[in-house]
Amino acid sequence: MLRAYTKQLLSIADPKPEPSSRPEVWAGGRQELCETLQYFRAYHGGGYTTGGFARGFMFDKSAHARDFVDSTVVIARAGGGLVKDKDSGERVVGSDRTEDSKVASLRNSMQYFNPVVIITGADNPNIPSQPPHTYCVLDYFKPTHIWSEKSKGKKILRYRFEKLDATKPSWWAPNNNEAQIEHGSLDPPIVYKCSKCNHESQQIYLQGWMCLQPSCSMFWLLAPTSTNLDPHEPVEADLEYDPCFLKQRVRWPNDKHIYSLASNDVELSGLSIVGEDCSLAYWQGMVCPKCGRCNSRLSWTGWECGNELQECNWKKEPPHIFIPAQSLRDPFFPLTSSYTLSRDTHLPLVKLDVSFKDNYRINRYTIPGIEGFVAHLIANKTVLEEEGGPDRMFEELQREDIGLKRRGLGSGMLKGESYTRHFLVNYGMPYKFIAATASRSFDDAARPINHTRTRLNWAAKFVLAEEVVSEVEREVEEGWKKNEFNEVLALGYFEQQRINYHDDGEYGLGPTIATLSLGAPGTMRLRMKARHHNGVSAAGVYDDTPALPGCAAYDARRSAQSSLVALKQSNPQAYRARLKTLPKELKLKSGGTARDAITLTLAHGDIVIMHGAEIQKYYEHSVDHAGKLRFALTCRYIDPNSLKEADRPNYEVRPDEGVYDGGCLPAAG
Ligand SMILES: [Zn+2]
Ligand SMILES: [Zn+2]
Repeated sequence: MLRAYTKQLLSIADPKPEPSSRPEVWAGGRQELCETLQYFRAYHGGGYTTGGFARGFMFDKSAHARDFVDSTVVIARAGGGLVKDKDSGERVVGSDRTEDSKVASLRNSMQYFNPVVIITGADNPNIPSQPPHTYCVLDYFKPTHIWSEKSKGKKILRYRFEKLDATKPSWWAPNNNEAQIEHGSLDPPIVYKCSKCNHESQQIYLQGWMCLQPSCSMFWLLAPTSTNLDPHEPVEADLEYDPCFLKQRVRWPNDKHIYSLASNDVELSGLSIVGEDCSLAYWQGMVCPKCGRCNSRLSWTGWECGNELQECNWKKEPPHIFIPAQSLRDPFFPLTSSYTLSRDTHLPLVKLDVSFKDNYRINRYTIPGIEGFVAHLIANKTVLEEEGGPDRMFEELQREDIGLKRRGLGSGMLKGESYTRHFLVNYGMPYKFIAATASRSFDDAARPINHTRTRLNWAAKFVLAEEVVSEVEREVEEGWKKNEFNEVLALGYFEQQRINYHDDGEYGLGPTIATLSLGAPGTMRLRMKARHHNGVSAAGVYDDTPALPGCAAYDARRSAQSSLVALKQSNPQAYRARLKTLPKELKLKSGGTARDAITLTLAHGDIVIMHGAEIQKYYEHSVDHAGKLRFALTCRYIDPNSLKEADRPNYEVRPDEGVYDGGCLPAAG
């Protein structure tokens, strides 16, 4: 009987037995898990800590030989600090572990009687039955002990957890369960006070009592025996848990309390709070009340259970509380029919030209060394309120389902499917990763989609015409018609949804990209890509693309360039060696990112035009917003010949037949 508890890894059958019942909550992938469960929001690692408290733990493939799980007790090593062992390739403790903030967080949870949730991965070698899904939630546990041990000569920290409500059946107990030692039925564990350090320690292993105070000279030493006359370290492979330690019951005042494992179950207040259904809680995942699956909110319209094993058909679609365009007005930046004040900023390196035309303030930025420009067209009240204009478009987009969904990104670094943070839908010519089948025709698109295309075609011509002398404006008109925007990518952002730094440069795209912002004001940041800024890859190799003004060590990199180019021609081998020595010589750092060169406040109705492939090649941009709801409608020209046969749409993408001329509005003043 005792043996069953001591060498757990050896005693678990292979294949593992079935669990005795189904987990209450589970997930097919890491992102869906982290978006759904408030007690485990860590995308990497095995512990989730927030505000100084441990909230959840995940135990998966990497386990210590003495880790242990039964139906009520879990024993684990504190994670982190592992390095790959050179010989075995295994991950081992690199140096002595001492109490860090993570351990302190668990101690907090222990002292304040905050239970933590334990989740198992399907590959956890210690779980006594085979978990039915990639991630399965065990239950709430009390952290009861934190102590130090030694493993392979290094100090490690270990935790013991006990199920909060031990009377509740554990789904992960194997269904062939033999008699178990009842929790709390044995004698209390042996406790001795160390004669050296005066600290009390419980006896954890049957081999004998040891002081577990890591600073004590008697730490991790067994008492002398008849065969071994000195205090001595135990043989690790022989260690067997003392059942009195394992099965002890540590009482908490809230032992029998019920904490929900599935708690994001948002319901509208019924008070018609503007933006309530677009707030953070409404795009967190939800546990399916029918099958327990963690479901990210993948659709603009609501949640849907993605359980493929059984047809669950669970759905939740909260009604949208309409956000009137009037509520977007910022009292600190009142709108008028004059030209709007600027809230954009830029680094001195960037060249700014300001012009005023057709009710728009146009902030036009050029970056030295980069062909092309970024133009920010800032709308005024006349533009916003014109018939069918931005105010109306924002309201229409809320009334019509245009098919916004979060796009799958494949699995990448995380287990299971991952998704974009924001919602999107493509119209017209299919754009990059968006499958042709998911793209939609302009023919039956909502009015704001088609009108965006017309409006942005006008805006792009309007801005590009500034580039050339006025006599050839007609040529711009005719030239533009050939490569006019043939795609609209609509993006929808709820509260705190953002798009991280990325570029919009792709093979087959025209050089001009225009975006109309609707709703909450966004902040767009442009910066040089890290590899161009730093001049050195993460692996420490010099990046020989010509240095751009504003990058790190610009002058030094420029003067190194000509000899480097010559060396590449004359001696490729020496050239490759030089790429490795140069970063050190020029004191280049591979970490860090460039400062934002341009920061734009994209208000409701504003348009951004990025022109030139080099901006996308060398620079990247991000957009976030501080409101409840924002739309960004982006137009591009996508060369149909750049699309593979299978990616071409099964509908015709007709020329833009809309009519719009911003010059017809009453003049600003
Ligand atoms: Zn001691
Ligand atoms: Zn379900």
